[in-house]
Amino acid sequence: MNAMNKMNSINNYLKAEFDSISINESLARGIAAFFILPLNPKVDAVADVKTAVSEAVTNAIIHGYRYEDGPVIMELRLDGRLLTVTVRDSGIGIEDVERARQPLFTTQPEAERSGMGFTVMESFMDSLDVESAPGKGTVVTMRKRL
Ligand code: ATP
Ligand code: MG
Repeated sequence: MNAMNKMNSINNYLKAEFDSISINESLARGIAAFFILPLNPKVDAVADVKTAVSEAVTNAIIHGYRYEDGPVIMELRLDGRLLTVTVRDSGIGIEDVERARQPLFTTQPEAERSGMGFTVMESFMDSLDVESAPGKGTVVTMRKRL
């Protein structure tokens, strides 16, 4: 067993700020995967984190900024084996967060959105918190024990 495999618990923090363009969905996914890699997580757990990060970042880009320019900030934190991911935008915000979190609710049905992003984040991570207000942007916080 090499040193990597013995690393079962790490405290670490990373903050990434990037443009609201769709190629950064895969960038954010990749950053999150590399961030947790030293913990030697299960393949399924890595896939779950990547998917959840992707959904949150996509929402920031297409809903928060409506494809216009704006910074997306992703923070990753490891406390032992507890991962906390925060994705933040300063876009239009959400009028009714509870309604937005319902499965199948979308404000962009014409864009072939299925309204399942928050549901996916919630089911793939251990917890999901959404703070948002119109004109104030959106902060999505997700946690998962790896
Ligand atoms: P899907 O994710 O399945 O493609 P969707 O993005 O519409 O569809 P959710 O990700 O569940 O579904 O989001 C539900 C709704 O919440 C969105 O349609 C949008 O109105 C609102 N929303 C989500 N994230 C943001 C955000 N960062 N800024 C503004 N509105 C948001
Ligand atoms: Mg979505």
